Amino acid sequence: MRFSTRQIHAGVEPDPLTGSILTPIYQTTTYVQDSVDEYLAKGYSYSRSANPTVRALERKLTNLEGGNDCTCFATGMAAINAVLLAFLNAGEHAVVSDVAYGGTHRLCTQVFTRFGVEFTFADTSDPAAVRSSIRANTRLILTETPANPTLKLTDIAAISAIAKEHNIPHAVDNTFLTPYFQRPLELGADLVVHSTTKYFDGHNATVGGAVVSRTAELDEATRFIQNSTGTIMSPQVAWLTLQGCKTLSVRMEKQSANAAAIAEFLEGHPKVERVCYPGLESFPQHELASSQASGYGAMVWFEVVGGLAAGKALMDSVEIWALAENLGAVESLITHPVTMTHADVDEAERRRVGISDGLVRLSVGLEDADDLIAALAVALDAG
Ligand SMILES: *Cc1c(COP(=O)(O)O)cnc(C)c1O
Repeated sequence: MRFSTRQIHAGVEPDPLTGSILTPIYQTTTYVQDSVDEYLAKGYSYSRSANPTVRALERKLTNLEGGNDCTCFATGMAAINAVLLAFLNAGEHAVVSDVAYGGTHRLCTQVFTRFGVEFTFADTSDPAAVRSSIRANTRLILTETPANPTLKLTDIAAISAIAKEHNIPHAVDNTFLTPYFQRPLELGADLVVHSTTKYFDGHNATVGGAVVSRTAELDEATRFIQNSTGTIMSPQVAWLTLQGCKTLSVRMEKQSANAAAIAEFLEGHPKVERVCYPGLESFPQHELASSQASGYGAMVWFEVVGGLAAGKALMDSVEIWALAENLGAVESLITHPVTMTHADVDEAERRRVGISDGLVRLSVGLEDADDLIAALAVALDAG
């Protein structure tokens, strides 16, 4: 079956007890066992380890990414934390995309380094740079593509091939494009990480995360961390995310069409210095964007003529666009990464990887594109 059918039906079935078409929110701590000998016969013992509502979402995400299994987490960061904990020991090393979500960078540099884990933040858009970063003690490659916030792309197949040569798992953060547009496992990756907070939820309602694995063995490793560290997703969040999944394709299509229209508008505007959107011919990796994904997504960034001051004035004054962190939801958001999402990445590192002070990030929502453009036009013209 095609994606749009699977996003609605995969992983769920009418409740066997009542026929309820929606999977119930199994709000319970524990599960009564039939007998000591039949412990875990129904698969559930305690809601830190597994919960039926969460399990339904795990089945759906497994199906949509084409994996073997999936483990859901309290947040996207808990999902990334689980991947790092599952595959890295003290004295071992990981290669991580030099542009990534600010929280990922912070978790590596300010938490895992305290326990003797080593990192190289490599330009993963360059397979040679990844290859030369690999050491004898490298145990994981973690890439994010498109990367937050610069949208730099990593060639998933090329990096997966390098990982395979070295027998190292390659985990891809697929938050920005979702499996509707990009399926890393089909391109050779071993693990897919998501902040379900973003497009799977799609309504600014929850925080959540997921890791979809190519094999049962990889899934067991992340699930063990989920249970051991107590970072499972809550049943309410899983339930809301199950509903969000059902409209994923429709939202992704419309939001990315809106983003394309906005990127084109910005590219032609005299007050705009620079625009970046993978769907634009001017995007430096436009060819890769077209070959490894079936859509360009709904994230755009630009710089206003006049730099930081002009950018701040625009973000403070623009109508409709809410000044907020988060992305992927139906509400359009405008974000200043240097102050907000990437404040914990030090200035030199930000400069090195192209997160400029004047960078304005757009998460394009589901409103009418003409209204979104008109609001930006008013704010640009006022500047
Ligand atoms: C938001 C985000 C995360 C972190 O997810 P949370 O749900 O906020 O913990 C990780 N990766 C990317 C690409 C993100 O955008």
